[in-house]
Amino acid sequence: MIPDMIVKDPAAKSFPGTASHPPVEVPPALAKKQFLADAAVHTRDVGHRAFVRKALGGYYASRDLQKARYRDWEQARDAASLAKWSAVNRLDELLPRFVANFESNGGRVHWARDAEEARRIVLDLLRTAKARAVIKSKCMTSEEIHLNQAMEKDGYEVVESDLGEFIQQLRGEPPYHFVFPCMHVRRDEISDLFGRHLGTPPTDSPEELTMIARRHMRRLYVDADVGITGANFLVAETGQISITENEGNARLTAALPRVHIAIAGIEKVVEHLDDLAVLLPMLATAGAGQPMTCYNTLYAGPRRPGECDGPEEMHLVLLDNSRTAILADPEQRDSLHCIRCGACLNVCPIFKNVGGFTYGTTYQGPIGSVITPHLRGLVDWNHLSGASSLCGACTDACPVRIDIHHHLLHNRRNAARTAPGRLEKLGHRLFVFAARRPWLFAAGGAIFRATLGLMKRLRPPLVRDWLATRDLPAAPAASFRSQWRSRR
Ligand code: SF4
Repeated sequence: MIPDMIVKDPAAKSFPGTASHPPVEVPPALAKKQFLADAAVHTRDVGHRAFVRKALGGYYASRDLQKARYRDWEQARDAASLAKWSAVNRLDELLPRFVANFESNGGRVHWARDAEEARRIVLDLLRTAKARAVIKSKCMTSEEIHLNQAMEKDGYEVVESDLGEFIQQLRGEPPYHFVFPCMHVRRDEISDLFGRHLGTPPTDSPEELTMIARRHMRRLYVDADVGITGANFLVAETGQISITENEGNARLTAALPRVHIAIAGIEKVVEHLDDLAVLLPMLATAGAGQPMTCYNTLYAGPRRPGECDGPEEMHLVLLDNSRTAILADPEQRDSLHCIRCGACLNVCPIFKNVGGFTYGTTYQGPIGSVITPHLRGLVDWNHLSGASSLCGACTDACPVRIDIHHHLLHNRRNAARTAPGRLEKLGHRLFVFAARRPWLFAAGGAIFRATLGLMKRLRPPLVRDWLATRDLPAAPAASFRSQWRSRR
């Protein structure tokens, strides 16, 4: 979280999680209902939309400025995409290579098939380390497996050290955006929050707010027995973990406690150290409009004899959690190329309207809508594929060239094949019936044009909800076919 992202204007309307429920993941069976309810509320909330626009205000200009510094941004996208393509398509070869090198550096790898196994592994490691206090740096994979809740349930004291995550932890909310976790919170709210929890005086200065968190955190790094981090990249040829961050908190989290546990999805592997030369700046530019993030660290095992810092033990939990199912799908495999830069969220008109919590998932926005149905089940999470105007802004913004909006279409198609709704099925049958009979199709079009104005005036129940947030366009005077004929 960078202070510039904190909106100052106290008049701007903050975004209190969701309107109708606390911002936690809802049960899968209710996910669609909750999404529709929250989306309906927030799309009408002009204050919230203005707030998100303001929070992202500086991002577009700085991103474009940094992109302009590349000799050829499109070629850099090709290179980044190729590095990820080559790694993801050779995971069977690169993962064992990474593991062998990581373990020869003194680290230990634990494979986790799913979230439950990953949580169990981490809890076992905490028990073995006789840990009491845990400090964490930003790790979306740990959000994915709901690790904090599991650790707190087992009595561990857990503190998030990333400023944005720390604020969210104090608010009792998950991240609003997977790069800018508290972009929806105003400065004065943060000041009040710190006042309530840390007893500090009010301040409007982002620097002072950062210093308050920093002073509070210093002791915790020293007191923590275990530090938990994520990983941005796993370098197969050297067995190193690459972490990129802006606050230096991940470095302290990994270096000061006795035990370091990193958690990463299996798709984070890249083959060469050189690959980071393109991936790290692309991640910073696309995600935050920076040339590079401030701290870029490679971790190569625990402390060695003669070294003055670093953990005594280093563990890596490698998580599958349905990633191999995505890998097995050649059509959508490239969604594993994602480097979690967040650029697709920043440009998505749907995200900017409904906000991060409405998705009800760990990964919000367009890429979240692509992968969540894979990670958590197509039947319950298929509605996210509809959370897109298919404008393609996400695909254009993606530094590793994931064809995001087409994947959303693929998910829609797969959902229709798996569990088509009865009404939808009937609608498609009627359409096919009419489309095969030109006279019927033309008559249907004429009736539709004639009744469009009437529908607008009478707002029948079938379309009332749809019309609540939209304007019906005026009916064209003539059908496409007659316009076509007259122009020729
Ligand atoms: S899909 Fe692309 S733009 Fe979106 S977070 Fe992943 S890498 Fe970034």
